[in-house]
Amino acid sequence: FIIPDWSGFTKHIEDFYWKCKTNSEGKVASYIPQLARMNPDYWGVSVCTIDGQRFSIGDTSIPFTLQSCSKPLTYAIALDRLGQEVVHQYVGQEPSGRNFNELVLDYNKKPHNPMINAGAILVCSLLKSLIKPEMTLAEKFDFTMNYFKKLAGGENLGFNNAIFLSEREAADRNYALGFYMREHNCYPDKSNLKEILDFYFQCCSMEANCDTMAVVAATLANGGICPITEEKVLKPDSVRDVLSLMHSCGMYDYSGQFAFKVGIPAKSGVSGSLLVVIPNVMGICTWSPPLDPLGNSCRGVQFCQELVSEFNFHRYDNL
Ligand code: GLN
Repeated sequence: FIIPDWSGFTKHIEDFYWKCKTNSEGKVASYIPQLARMNPDYWGVSVCTIDGQRFSIGDTSIPFTLQSCSKPLTYAIALDRLGQEVVHQYVGQEPSGRNFNELVLDYNKKPHNPMINAGAILVCSLLKSLIKPEMTLAEKFDFTMNYFKKLAGGENLGFNNAIFLSEREAADRNYALGFYMREHNCYPDKSNLKEILDFYFQCCSMEANCDTMAVVAATLANGGICPITEEKVLKPDSVRDVLSLMHSCGMYDYSGQFAFKVGIPAKSGVSGSLLVVIPNVMGICTWSPPLDPLGNSCRGVQFCQELVSEFNFHRYDNL
């Protein structure tokens, strides 16, 4: 086993869980009613190792929408199908140093990276127009959801239509980003902006629980092979690129501090989820709706800090 003393390890995870449970900081996202209604007390942590050992504590079977946690997944699909050269003709690899939905492009008039809204909308346009462009919208939705399911080892992954409809209603900024990028010819030829944005909202509205998302993180930790099904879902090169950008850009405008203090690739989403990847060891998902001012889950960030204060998972531990 990759973690020889499993019960000793999970005892620590439990301790961190209870420690973070008392953290009452942060505010639940309120830009759409379906998220605003989320109970701020929800708190769950799930772990899945690359050899398939699993542990869950708290609210780990309540579904939440993936939101920005879908960004590394759509980026992974694009890399896997199109290759790094093609994808990065359209989107950069640099932290933006700005908010996740800020109306800003880089000096080449491309989105800064795939982990913020502009970049993820662009990646959606690549999935739509460059991978099997003959697919209908319905087929492209199924194609993407099937990929997410494979990453999750076939466990329950759904779609929340109420959130999708609300996202689309409350999307002025995402539309602004969409038009701004169209003005600068960011998309592949023959792209349809409305369809791209719908597809982006659909990816944000995919739904899963902590338990399942820990498997997704573990598939990334395992170089693209799902530890539960042993299916090869992604190429190792694609996973390397996803983890690189999760490391430098996954926590919005807290990414630099997170890389310094925690030193583990991670991606957060506005529903309060946090995907954490410890390469070659395990995947972790935490979920707790209250967010800090930058949009990261307060309990999730604290959990990661507790984790690296006890275990040497920081990338530059053990030198
Ligand atoms: N649906 C959100 C948006 O597009 C997702 C962003 C996030 O999770 N931070 O604004």
